[in-house]
Amino acid sequence: MDESTSERVVRFLVDHARCNQCRGAYHVENVHVLHQSGDRIWDLAAVCEQCYGLALIRAVVKSEDGQIHTEPVGELSNAELRRFDRLRPIDRDDVLDATAFLSDFDGDFERLFQSGEADGVDA
Ligand SMILES: [Zn+2]
Repeated sequence: MDESTSERVVRFLVDHARCNQCRGAYHVENVHVLHQSGDRIWDLAAVCEQCYGLALIRAVVKSEDGQIHTEPVGELSNAELRRFDRLRPIDRDDVLDATAFLSDFDGDFERLFQSGEADGVDA
């Protein structure tokens, strides 16, 4: 592993990225390299020291000039992130509701979705 590039990528993230939840800065000791593809793509996990939020961030080192840029990594699109941002957080009652639901659920998703029960409770 190219240690100097690794350090440069982590340093760049610490200098430029901010926590999505609280806008806090990341510290070098809380940024971890998860995966490296070639010498250009780095997948990193950063934990916010203030709110303990976890961010998965991809850093790409441009081959032309060695510049680094970072982007959040996740399965959600920006539109989905905005949508979920507007919802209230999941709480204990939601977990209990889900547990009660699953204990009675027979696994027939087709019937479930046709019945309309699968729609969000608060939608
Ligand atoms: Zn934070």
